Amino acid sequence: MSAPIYDRVALIGLGLIASSMGHAMKKWGLARSIAGHAKTEATRAAALELGFCDEVFATAAEAADGADLVVLAVPVGAMGAVAAEIGPHLKLGATVTDVGSVKQAVIEAVAPHLRAGIEFIPGHPLAGTEHSGPRSGFATLFQNRWCLIIPGEASPEAVARLRALWEGMGSNVEEMDAAHHDLVLAVTSHTPHLIAYTMVGVADHLRRVTESEIIKYSAAGFRDFTRIAASDPTMWRDVFLTNKEATLDILGRFTEELFMLQRAIRMGDGEELFDYFTRTRAIRRGIIEAGQDTAAPGFGRTKVDEK
Ligand code: NAP
Repeated sequence: MSAPIYDRVALIGLGLIASSMGHAMKKWGLARSIAGHAKTEATRAAALELGFCDEVFATAAEAADGADLVVLAVPVGAMGAVAAEIGPHLKLGATVTDVGSVKQAVIEAVAPHLRAGIEFIPGHPLAGTEHSGPRSGFATLFQNRWCLIIPGEASPEAVARLRALWEGMGSNVEEMDAAHHDLVLAVTSHTPHLIAYTMVGVADHLRRVTESEIIKYSAAGFRDFTRIAASDPTMWRDVFLTNKEATLDILGRFTEELFMLQRAIRMGDGEELFDYFTRTRAIRRGIIEAGQDTAAPGFGRTKVDEK
């Protein structure tokens, strides 16, 4: 158990990410008390029942009142309205952070509502599952996962404190600027999610292959797609509405490559296909050599990792 890093933390939104943060802060003693707010009474009651909040409030303003750290953990599209509500109630010197999957749009929506003397440090834990809601969280979600933070204009002391919180929850922390974050995530997460949604959508439309055949014969490839495509629709709608430019850029490149492969298949151009797959295999080897993944079958995943 470590010494508390913050006295009073307010979690605004009590879903997968906030509940995991609450459990982790409790497990490692990182906050003296945790207040919470979510839209519905049922979610607030669940937070108390599960014990990842000490108290819950019907409004975000009440939860944020007097907090040293306020974590915005609502869908990206709701961040601006929440910031407008809590802005006037924030304690001078408090830190506001968020966990949104997109950074430029969140900064544009939130920053105007925070007065001078409030430290705003956007963040994004690169950890999640396809489950959502207050009952889906667990303390070890952030273990050995990256958390990206955007220091912006915040003081080095406030940044160091937030970094210590994420490290206390088991994350590796890296600083990045918002535009670069959005581009990196468009490549590594947002576009792959869109492709998974499409692939599962296509299978759903294929009437010649029955649903039971899809389920029965789906080897790891398609099964992984269906797991990703089961992710929260609100969260992912907001990601694409707010990281428009970068995802459209990557999607454009993806479509071009797909057409090129389509042509190679149609023309029976085995050399083109072989060369392409050799290049992608080298990229995968590079990732393993950099220690970012394992060469073990099934990506070395255990049931626990997949949770
Ligand atoms: P989630 O499980 O769906 O939970 C969202 C929470 O926000 C719920 O407690 C919901 O309350 C609350 N909420 C929604 N609109 C609200 C509003 N206007 N005012 C107050 N509360 C509101 O979501 P999550 O997966 O934790 O995602 C939260 C944030 O983390 C998102 O911005 C997402 O982009 C980001 N993120 C997600 C992942 C992931 O894999 N899931 C990973 C990294 C970052 P009710 O339950 O009462 O409706």
